[in-house]
Amino acid sequence: MTVKIKINPDFRKIINYDRFLGVLDFIAQTGKIKIILTGKTPDYYYGYEQCNESSFIFYSELYYDKNIKFELVDNKWMPYGIASKYFDPIGAIYRIFILFDEQQRKNKNNSNGFTSFLTTDLTKERQSFKGLALVDQWVDTFIEKLIGKKNVPQNILKICLTHDVDGPEIYHFYEISKSFFKLIRFRNLKYWWQVVHGIKSKIRKDKGPFWRFIEWLEQEKKLNACSTFFFYPGKNIYKNHFNDPPYHIDNSSKWNILNEIEKNGGEVGIHPGIYYKKEEQAFLNSRLKFNKRGIPALGIRHHYWELNWADPFETFRKQANSGLKYDLSIAWKDSPGFRLATCRPFKTWFGQENTLDHVVIPSTIMDGHLFQYANYPTDECRLQAIERIIKEVFEKDGVLVLDWHERTFEDTLIYPGYGKFYFKLLKYLNTNFDVDYLLPREIFDGVLGNYHNHRLILEN
Ligand SMILES: [Zn+2]
Repeated sequence: MTVKIKINPDFRKIINYDRFLGVLDFIAQTGKIKIILTGKTPDYYYGYEQCNESSFIFYSELYYDKNIKFELVDNKWMPYGIASKYFDPIGAIYRIFILFDEQQRKNKNNSNGFTSFLTTDLTKERQSFKGLALVDQWVDTFIEKLIGKKNVPQNILKICLTHDVDGPEIYHFYEISKSFFKLIRFRNLKYWWQVVHGIKSKIRKDKGPFWRFIEWLEQEKKLNACSTFFFYPGKNIYKNHFNDPPYHIDNSSKWNILNEIEKNGGEVGIHPGIYYKKEEQAFLNSRLKFNKRGIPALGIRHHYWELNWADPFETFRKQANSGLKYDLSIAWKDSPGFRLATCRPFKTWFGQENTLDHVVIPSTIMDGHLFQYANYPTDECRLQAIERIIKEVFEKDGVLVLDWHERTFEDTLIYPGYGKFYFKLLKYLNTNFDVDYLLPREIFDGVLGNYHNHRLILEN
């Protein structure tokens, strides 16, 4: 199915035109049609004031103004005080993707090199649909209007399991001293536990309680699942952050675990440090480090979700230029849900030449969302808190991406209940849905396979 759209030529001047084209491309891919941007007679006009009802898509310039306050009316993202019949679907998706409404948050100043913030700082209007993939809903309704046909969901819950590896070596000198420092500062017993176990495994020369890769894989295999581990490549040659992981991948035999993971059906990706986001060369160096061990390492998730949030697509371009193929860093640090209001992976738009293959796979739920930032008394409460989100992914044909830190397999004193809940959740998903566990590389292949026939074409 093909739809020809003509847009107002002034758009090139008044909006971020490249991102705008990316939005049209996103609508085409995930709505499964081909959109041709034409200068000739189109099927629909967008951004023109005068044309007949049946051939125009409602346009409002308010959507392209970052200073205007928005609110949710009938599940539509509307400029304050405007009725929902004046909804501009393309403008709304543009607005969400360019993070305009996030710029209206409180506490804008960040220190310590972090650009992430708490969702409680967002306007209460934006907070109101953290757990709804409204962009996907708008795309489907919009496409139905354009072609008169509904997107039929597949009734399968696609799941992608991931583990960030933030510090597997408890015996590492730096790890022990850091725990000791935190023990003095926060007077929390769990840091004492880490110091003791760090020293113990150093003396015994064993790998200690945080080295649990094979156990994750084995437990997951029992539930017909497999997962991806994101490893920190090592220090950035430019700049490091205190909260970067204290280990690095080198030539020693213990890192055969990377190959072991891949042999067991899992995937290995890159978990770069906090300042990597602006350094293309650092991405390239990391990838080569993994390649040397025979690991393709095509996927990436940033430590602390540290994309360049002023413009995540700039970070994506740097990733893609370094040969990375997919990113899983779109998420909030304190809350589950949909930061771009979509749960659908999509091919990234890199300008009109658009030759780089790169896919964005938004992440959905992290262990810390349910354990660190929220204080649920029981697993039942935790499940209740995410049931709607899981259903949303199922209904919108998206991918449910879970992130449980590798260390949380040790879920006694140190990460109490984390691991237990994870496996409980997988059992719940297996029981209540037809599930399909996918590795990021399979998601990437799926997105590119679809992209050939469903995308934006620029006609001159
Ligand atoms: Zn991390």
